[in-house]
Amino acid sequence: MRAFQYARARTPAEAVGQHRASGTEYLAGGTTLLDLVKLDVMRPEAVVDINRLDLAKIETLPDGRTKIGALVRNSDLAHDRGIREKFPVLAEALLNGASAQLRNMATTSGNLMQRTRCPYFRDGFSACNKRAPGSGCAALEGFNRSHAILGGSEACIATHPSDMCVALAALDAEILVQGSQGDGAGRVIPITKFHLLPGRTPEKEFALERDELITAVVLPALQPGTRSWYLKIRDRESFEFALASAAVVLETQGSTISSARIALGGVATKPWRATEAEAALRGAPLEESAFANAAALAVKGASPREHNAFKIELAKRVVTRALSAVAASQPTVREI
Ligand code: SF4
Repeated sequence: MRAFQYARARTPAEAVGQHRASGTEYLAGGTTLLDLVKLDVMRPEAVVDINRLDLAKIETLPDGRTKIGALVRNSDLAHDRGIREKFPVLAEALLNGASAQLRNMATTSGNLMQRTRCPYFRDGFSACNKRAPGSGCAALEGFNRSHAILGGSEACIATHPSDMCVALAALDAEILVQGSQGDGAGRVIPITKFHLLPGRTPEKEFALERDELITAVVLPALQPGTRSWYLKIRDRESFEFALASAAVVLETQGSTISSARIALGGVATKPWRATEAEAALRGAPLEESAFANAAALAVKGASPREHNAFKIELAKRVVTRALSAVAASQPTVREI
């Protein structure tokens, strides 16, 4: 492991000030950063420890929205009574991620900034445009079973790894950030714009300026009676990343769907909102044929590689099953 400078911040403004030099990273739970530092994939020259900042609260705002501090641990968020009652899909997604030990350390903001699990990115020596821009992409012609079928480019097909972010995408979360520019009040980034498609610059993953700090995530209130579910399919039932997953948030009137939000995980380069599927479901009957049609639209435009074409059918089945289960469910969190 390479040596780096270490500083501890007491306020968000102090953290942003300490982050100005290039080569600096924020340190929260450390479950991504320290992992990648030990692999020599990330090489920070300095680290700003933000664990002492007062950003670990979950609050209901006067307008009914829910504000989740950047440093709320994944375990605390998943087991918070208000989150489980109001946003069960988020609690389910969190409990489907990683292991209990990791969830005890990982934070909301760190989870938002998880890096890909592409093995060529993590091995430190393969051609990888994300780790070493311009070096190529070993996954394109390599073993790409876990890679993305949606949102990829000729520069990168790495899959976005987070479960939490898929639920946040279906919940239309907003990310609050603070940086050195502007009036100090910070700015708001919709979750759908926070993670960037790889395009020609896969090394740029987030819509953040270099010194910007995530301070909170805000969730709009759901209509009473809204139902939701997070369904994740993976190679083993614990401590494993998704091959395909879906977060579904459904509002109905009688036997008709009034609104549907669907986000996919494990199949795309970012948390993937299936907007065409959502539009097709609006006003549709709560029937299997409507779910199957939406599932087909959810993977429209998929571009599989040699080893991951199975994800098209898998994702369709995940969407269909998630919609069917939500349609038949009560608006409560499922025990996992
Ligand atoms: Fe690197 Fe992306 Fe290619 Fe993986 S898929 S090797 S992360 S460029």
